[in-house]
Amino acid sequence: MEPVLNGDGYADGKPVYDFWECPGCGEQFEIDDKYNFCPKCGQALEWEENHELNLTSD
Ligand SMILES: [Zn+2]
Repeated sequence: MEPVLNGDGYADGKPVYDFWECPGCGEQFEIDDKYNFCPKCGQALEWEENHELNLTSD
């Protein structure tokens, strides 16, 4: 399942996501902490590459 991205602001007209929410248990995690599986309930998470996130790749 896809994680739910949550943000509370916009930058340059794009939403800025600060947290993501597990679709399985609803637990929230910081956007910098991405997991393939939810550390709380074990739900498999599918991260799409096309989200507008300002993350540096390695
Ligand atoms: Zn979970």
